[in-house]
Amino acid sequence: MLIDIQDLETHPLDFHEEFGPGTIDFGAELRQSSPLRSEGRADLVEEHHGKHKVIQDIRLKGHLDTTLEVACARCLEPVVQQVQRDFDLLYRPLGADAGHEELSVTDAEAEISYFQGEGVLLEDVLREQVLLAVPLKTICREDCRGLCPHCGKNLNEGQCSCENHGNDPRWEALKDIREKLEQ
Ligand SMILES: [Zn+2]
Ligand SMILES: [Zn+2]
Repeated sequence: MLIDIQDLETHPLDFHEEFGPGTIDFGAELRQSSPLRSEGRADLVEEHHGKHKVIQDIRLKGHLDTTLEVACARCLEPVVQQVQRDFDLLYRPLGADAGHEELSVTDAEAEISYFQGEGVLLEDVLREQVLLAVPLKTICREDCRGLCPHCGKNLNEGQCSCENHGNDPRWEALKDIREKLEQ
């Protein structure tokens, strides 16, 4: 859904959109498992730069929620994450700040991004907000034992037999010494 700056010149836009899994690409690491719901309002904000220049920003304020599955950083099993986020964002036409050192922001609490073309794609905004809401490293539980580095077995499901084969380097060193003594 394109939030068109020309439409906003006549009236603010209230949006209430739902995106099913697969509509928005969150990359290979994340799997969306419930509809992404979003609602909010897009407004035009006029920013005066000097006496003559007026910049028209798009302000996007709203809320999103969805459910994602993320691979556990240790054992790679999927972990369900509820994502909820409020956002209040300011989009400025790309190049509008050229030559201006500082950004005078109407609302200091809003974050500023830039857009190209006739407006902002709501899907792009939501993708970015979802990615910001998901922790970088997710683990399925505090005491997740991860995968065995030798055979790849998920150690939460039980012991593998690797640890009995003397792969620990300390035991390897002892074995070398014993072999030397026996010679
Ligand atoms: Zn895990
Ligand atoms: Zn193993």
